[in-house]
Amino acid sequence: MNSRTGYSTFQRRLDDVKTRIADLEEQMKDVHARINRLADRRLLERRAVIDPSRCTGCGICQDVCPQGAVRVSRVATIDIERCIGCGVCVQYCPQGAIRLSGEQ
Ligand code: SF4
Ligand code: SF4
Repeated sequence: MNSRTGYSTFQRRLDDVKTRIADLEEQMKDVHARINRLADRRLLERRAVIDPSRCTGCGICQDVCPQGAVRVSRVATIDIERCIGCGVCVQYCPQGAIRLSGEQ
């Protein structure tokens, strides 16, 4: 094999490797897009759920909810059309009266 043939063989292999890398990058984009769709779906399925037997009606969850999804009269209630399941109210409730659906 002369040096010219050796070089073109090397060049072909290099092109093959580049093509495979490009294919893998496309596949990884697809995988990431699927993961993001699954994560979005999971987030959209989560909703705040109140345990009225624990709720004292303090109103903290109503104050901290970024969606305006909580109303408190005697106890808190959630507007499930507005709730995005962010979990902020769960963090702030002093009574542990809120959980997110789909979580223990
Ligand atoms: S923060 Fe907790 S205790 Fe206070 S109103 Fe909301 S759910 Fe009830
Ligand atoms: S989970 Fe988020 S959006 Fe839903 S009620 Fe609680 S603070 Fe509001």
